Amino acid sequence: MADYYERLGISRDATTEEIKRAYRKLALKYHPDRNEGSREAESRFKEVTEAYEVLRDPEKRSTYDRYGEQGLRGSPGFGGFDFSDAIEIFMRDFGGFGGFEEIFGGRRGGRSGRRDPGKGPTIRVRLPLTLKEVRTGVTKKIRVALLEPCGGCEGSGASPGTSPTPCRNCGGTGEERHVQRSVFGQFMSVGPCRVCGGEGRTIEQPCPECRGEGRVNKDRELEVEVPAGVGSDNFLTLRGRGNAGPRGGPRGDIIVLLEVQDDSRFLRDGENLLHELSITFSQAALGDEVEVPTVDGTVRMTIPAGIQSGEILRLRGQGLPGLHGRGRGDQLVRVRVWTPQHVSPEQERILEELRELETPPPQGAERGEEKGFWAKFKEAFS
Ligand SMILES: [Zn+2]
Ligand SMILES: [Zn+2]
Repeated sequence: MADYYERLGISRDATTEEIKRAYRKLALKYHPDRNEGSREAESRFKEVTEAYEVLRDPEKRSTYDRYGEQGLRGSPGFGGFDFSDAIEIFMRDFGGFGGFEEIFGGRRGGRSGRRDPGKGPTIRVRLPLTLKEVRTGVTKKIRVALLEPCGGCEGSGASPGTSPTPCRNCGGTGEERHVQRSVFGQFMSVGPCRVCGGEGRTIEQPCPECRGEGRVNKDRELEVEVPAGVGSDNFLTLRGRGNAGPRGGPRGDIIVLLEVQDDSRFLRDGENLLHELSITFSQAALGDEVEVPTVDGTVRMTIPAGIQSGEILRLRGQGLPGLHGRGRGDQLVRVRVWTPQHVSPEQERILEELRELETPPPQGAERGEEKGFWAKFKEAFS
């Protein structure tokens, strides 16, 4: 398998910032929710996350630089890296907004004794958004199929009138001891009870409605508050609002994947929006007042006389807000002078007359255009 640096496509002297950026880009590309559960994408996701988790940590990184992957074996948290670890790492660093939501905290770590019924599984839903919704922020309703506590048994899983009883196999402790023999001798190991799954209780007469699960499938409608300024790489976590756990276990989370839909009129560049406007030669030469589409509707804009094709006009504050409500981007309007491809006989006559009168345009350096400025946006529009 490829070197960690190669997996992230970065050089060996990449900064932490570069590592983060490279990983984020690849993780979003291979994220299972964006790849219809493709096995290939899943394994790439795992590979890049593993590389990221090592390289972002200066200590692990220097160990890796000196001893390679071998050097990391046995270090805490590195005994068998699986897909759910990868998801957990990704959500830890890139889920939510700027990390003020702690996600999936404390799943790892030794647990002994009776365990409470598990938490409901996390589900992911997609939420399409328009640019207009991104501009204002929006409260949206989403429909999700959830596991809800069963009404028949009030979530216990036991048939009405009965209740769960202590597990006979483990005596209610939830633990089971095994004697193992190895070349080093005999030793005891403790694991969760196989009969009750560690819950310490079993159900003699399962509830007929949920067959002892304590939960049933139901369609639910939830309200989601989407803050202004989000992008397609943001997630929202609805903590404890997802699937009910089995037999009274706590609800899991819902992760809402935001998908900002393309709007053919605009290109988004962070908080700024780019729009291309075609005008006629006479509008460019004489100036004009025109209507320009914005995310909200339209605004009137003045085209100054003598504008050149490719010049950019700025509509202040007509872009998108920053994620934390700070500031607001602009809408940049790139003006393009449209040359007619078909002209009427009368237009032709006037243009012929104009040709006799006009002075030749300046060439090259004489034009004195702001080349750097133009080059910056050229890429965005091509
Ligand atoms: Zn039930
Ligand atoms: Zn048991």
